[in-house]
Amino acid sequence: MIDPDCLFCKIVAGDIPADTVLETDDVLVFRDIAPQAPVHLLAVPKRHIPSIAEVGPEDHGLLGALVQAANDAAGAFGLEDRGYRIASNVGDEAGQTVFHLHLHIMGGAPLGALAVTDLQDRTP
Ligand code: AMP
Repeated sequence: MIDPDCLFCKIVAGDIPADTVLETDDVLVFRDIAPQAPVHLLAVPKRHIPSIAEVGPEDHGLLGALVQAANDAAGAFGLEDRGYRIASNVGDEAGQTVFHLHLHIMGGAPLGALAVTDLQDRTP
């Protein structure tokens, strides 16, 4: 399924250019346009799923292929021994801005904190 209003669907369709680093039957991996690490890639399923929170049983195989492609892309950039981070934002407070499931693959330097560093009294 393709969402005609979705940015990453347009990249998958080739209607918007991207710096693709890996492609499989089901997954595209391309460079993030505003990198937050020396290596910052995005792995997206070609099929439109709004976020990782909306994955269903029918998507389990696709999720496996997505993680495999993310790891393969990290390896292609020599990150397998150095380490890297895979992250996927869901919704506003996580900072999701593109509502097409994507894995951020980041590495190439020591990475900063994963999230809020000073929890103060905000733990539920
Ligand atoms: P998120 O904020 O988790 O939804 O991540 C969306 C990511 O998409 C951000 O890191 C953006 O920099 C990236 N992005 C937005 N537009 C493009 C584009 N045309 N090509 C590549 N990456 C993009």
